[in-house]
Amino acid sequence: MILNCFNCKALVDAQEISNYKNEITDSDNYQTTSYDCNELLRTYEEYTFLKCPLCLKPFLTYLIYNNDYGHDFKKLKFITLYPLSNKTINSEVSISIKKAFDEAICCFENNAFTACVIMCRKAIEGVCKEHKIEKGNLKEKLILMKKGGIIDQNIFD
Ligand SMILES: [Zn+2]
Repeated sequence: MILNCFNCKALVDAQEISNYKNEITDSDNYQTTSYDCNELLRTYEEYTFLKCPLCLKPFLTYLIYNNDYGHDFKKLKFITLYPLSNKTINSEVSISIKKAFDEAICCFENNAFTACVIMCRKAIEGVCKEHKIEKGNLKEKLILMKKGGIIDQNIFD
């Protein structure tokens, strides 16, 4: 499984050590089939314990499957439970920026890299707007932010 190792700062092909599947019994999570509304479909969640092949640090992932109208089980939601992203964001930033940033991390963890870039861009645009820098394209805005001392050379690069 390809995971983002924060220790190695790289995407690694994590080796699976153990795996536990749990059938979901909460009736709210059941879906009915399109053929027979009384028939409840099973679905399940899966916890996987893995290790990074390079630094040997552990991962714990969580996957919930969606049983889609009697067809194959589809991945509904995938999250890395451990380690938690160390990319946290100051609680003082506005909700819209935080939402875009969190979504970017989620896209990255689900290997949706194009979507991740779009959300990163949205978050940066949000920061620009917060500082009343709204003219020009993103590159011009970043130059203005650096000139204004809002971001330093490191972030600019
Ligand atoms: Zn690693």
